[in-house]
Amino acid sequence: MAYIEPAPIKDRENPFESMMSRFHIASQALGLDDEVYNVLKSPAKQVQVSLPITMDDGSIKVFDGFRVIHSNILGPSKGGIRYDMSVHMDEVKALAAWMTWKCAVVDIPYGGAKGGIKCNPRQMSSGEIERLTRAYTFAMAEIFGPDRDIPAPDMGTGPREMAWLMDAYSRVQGMTVNSVVTGKPLVLGGSLGRAEATGRGVMVSALTAMEKLRINPYQASISVQGFGNVGSYASLLLEERGCRIVAISDLSGAYYNEKGIPIEEAIAFRDKNNGHLDGFDQAEKISGEDLLTLKVDVLVPAATEDVINTDNAENINARLIVEGANGPTSSTADGIINEKGIMVAPDILANAGGVTVSYFEWVQNRLGYKWSAERVNRRSDRIMKDAFERVYKTSLEYKVSMRIAAYIVAIDKVSKTYKFRGGF
Ligand code: GLU
Repeated sequence: MAYIEPAPIKDRENPFESMMSRFHIASQALGLDDEVYNVLKSPAKQVQVSLPITMDDGSIKVFDGFRVIHSNILGPSKGGIRYDMSVHMDEVKALAAWMTWKCAVVDIPYGGAKGGIKCNPRQMSSGEIERLTRAYTFAMAEIFGPDRDIPAPDMGTGPREMAWLMDAYSRVQGMTVNSVVTGKPLVLGGSLGRAEATGRGVMVSALTAMEKLRINPYQASISVQGFGNVGSYASLLLEERGCRIVAISDLSGAYYNEKGIPIEEAIAFRDKNNGHLDGFDQAEKISGEDLLTLKVDVLVPAATEDVINTDNAENINARLIVEGANGPTSSTADGIINEKGIMVAPDILANAGGVTVSYFEWVQNRLGYKWSAERVNRRSDRIMKDAFERVYKTSLEYKVSMRIAAYIVAIDKVSKTYKFRGGF
């Protein structure tokens, strides 16, 4: 099947600049002094490695690998690893900074980091991906560590890659160290609830926001862009709570059904169909761009950066946007969305459920103990709900958007901690 690659976006922003522009606005609103602003504006560490890998046909291909630690002020740095052709240093830098703010918004004791390898995992064999993952881990063995920097899955990676990473790191250390990475398979010390955690947090954020906007979930229509880990679990859990998911999409296109798409069937179809929705017949096929501008109550962008931008922001017809992806709205589109009166549950708040349960996984690994799914879900739901309320209150207090309010909450926490710790 030929994948339809996303259309090029005219105003595709440099993701780091996009992050910085919100950071700048929030810092001013908060009256952050220059000293702390300067500490937080650039990453603490940036590492780039070349990874020569023997491919299945015997040739050697060299891949670029990245890891950026934005900050370790709140604790060891935390953040996923992305396998995608779009990976580049500026993107990894932005994603690392977003992790700093995300961990601070939900008040977990981590700094922020991100990693990535520029590759197309869809065109690689499992053996090639395994060798690449082990080579990357070996190259980063001095960076990673349960008290230093703790990776996790992101776009293009999952429990399988995390298992290889844990094994490769453990071999370097000469002992099993499962707390070096989260998002592992259950048998290796993964946590119950981790697989659905980001989608579950999106669901909690969406329901809390709907409550504020007085949208009845049983009458709510929702479109979800992206049907990977985040989008599919968010759809399933929102459907379970009475919402109607009218549109979903992936790289094969978008699928619309006004009466509601049966999500369990869509997931089963995707899983039997090589991971994509091409040929799904419980819905009418529409374009990815049309999905974004549907008249719905809630839009959940759960794929990648900059999908809501100055080209289409004016045409967004949702009352609420809940950002399952990192950076799905370009900073240049923020103003248009605000002016239209659309509430946004921003990425660093709405998709923080994943890293929250990663934190629980790390805690369980260090305790040598396992929590029940009920305990994981109850605690993560509470954290997500409390964080939403904190950000909502801040947005009223400072008279700013939910996005800027989330940055204010995060920057305030990190800068206060920095002031106590101090520097050289
Ligand atoms: N990659 C996920 C994120 O962007 C999860 C990170 C983690 O669990 O450390 O939030």
